[in-house]
Amino acid sequence: MVPIKKYVNLYQKFWLSLIKQNNQFMLFYSINKQSPPVTFKEAAITGQAPDKGLYFPEQIPVLSADFFKRLNSKTKGEIAFEVIRPYIGNTIPEEDLYTICEETVNFDFPLKKITESIYSLELFHGPTLAFKDVGARFMSRCLSHFSEGNDKKITVLVATSGDTGSAVANGFLDVKGVDVVILYPSGKVSKIQELQLTTLGKNITALEVQGTFDDCQSMVKQAFSDESLNKHLSLTSANSINVARWLPQQFYYFYALQQWQHESPPVISVPSGNFGNICAGLLAYFSGAPIKHFIAACNSNDVFSNYIINKTFIPKTAVATISNAMDVGNPSNFVRLLELFAHNHKHVKEMISNCCVSDTASAETILEVYKKYSYLLEPHGAVAYKGLQDYLGQHPNQKGLILETAHPVKFDDVVQNIIIDTIAIPASVQHLFKLKKESTIIKPEFKELKDFLLSRN
Ligand SMILES: *Cc1c(COP(=O)(O)O)cnc(C)c1O
Repeated sequence: MVPIKKYVNLYQKFWLSLIKQNNQFMLFYSINKQSPPVTFKEAAITGQAPDKGLYFPEQIPVLSADFFKRLNSKTKGEIAFEVIRPYIGNTIPEEDLYTICEETVNFDFPLKKITESIYSLELFHGPTLAFKDVGARFMSRCLSHFSEGNDKKITVLVATSGDTGSAVANGFLDVKGVDVVILYPSGKVSKIQELQLTTLGKNITALEVQGTFDDCQSMVKQAFSDESLNKHLSLTSANSINVARWLPQQFYYFYALQQWQHESPPVISVPSGNFGNICAGLLAYFSGAPIKHFIAACNSNDVFSNYIINKTFIPKTAVATISNAMDVGNPSNFVRLLELFAHNHKHVKEMISNCCVSDTASAETILEVYKKYSYLLEPHGAVAYKGLQDYLGQHPNQKGLILETAHPVKFDDVVQNIIIDTIAIPASVQHLFKLKKESTIIKPEFKELKDFLLSRN
């Protein structure tokens, strides 16, 4: 195992001594170290620290040998509960937390065999057919718990390239005390994704931005740092910078291990954009999960590869690809990855391999796997598959799994063109096509967003 540093420096010691006097539980510190540590509750409600840093747990709990010995006999809800409990402390009573966990993961996470050495952990059996359902369902239930008895509404503001928005909208629908405002780039999300965002109504509002995903993201970031706006509204983020969305993404790594039949631990290939998913996997690993190695599988957006090769992290403008949920040029969780490895480049490189898979190679992979193994990947899973296939080519004695992060039907226009075949629409989303889209069109300017938010209050 890679050693991880003790997270206590002078700054933390000071605050911890103040706060810990009455509370015996985990705190989260800001990676920028300019604002005080907070509990899970505060981190979930505010999203980002006042100093604009991401919150990070002061410790990574180590799961007992007994936990791993009994893993196979535990239910999904039990695993989720035991994994997350140390992070939550007593900010949510144990019984409520258990219910939240059970509801969060009440769908399947099957591990399917593709070849002798490559498996696929299907994370798309949730209500919006993407892995983000797990984080969004957990987060929405936590915020709902925290908003009970609270007069001030929480407004969740989220920029999406497709999957985040639909998972968050679905997770927060009808949650009392919480309003959701979603910004998505007009014409740049798939048909199903748009319907998932724009047909719910009630406490969910969709803003259709005449710009790119990067425009949406920067408008949201500006909103969080706008003083007058934050005086009027209690704003929070539902992107993976929020610990309530990030931490539960560990759960399914344990479900993969439950189903893993081989003696030696798996190599896990994670299709990565903002690096929230892989950082959650790393938490599971540091908690003791038997994982051999990680692959951060990226498309042509290559900032992680650059870091591995050149030891420097240089954010770039994102380029558009067919795996568009990973078109990220400045991954927000990269700072968490560095924190996990105490900025030790050598240790990062030992534990995580990099790869960049082009659109052409992704399409070839989708076609090859479909023809040879009758398994249909979508573009993000294809990036992970290609990364793993190349890695196993160099390490022939190992076996691994990919995280298949979305259902192919969410990217049906791309996938159908590659396989020259049609994909059946799952029953669970067929009703969407009968619903009417409702969105408010705005220009990609912060002022328009601000005026919109204030006008509703
Ligand atoms: C969001 C998303 C990813 C990237 O996950 P990160 O946590 O941002 O690295 C990969 N695949 C799909 C389908 C996604 O929606």
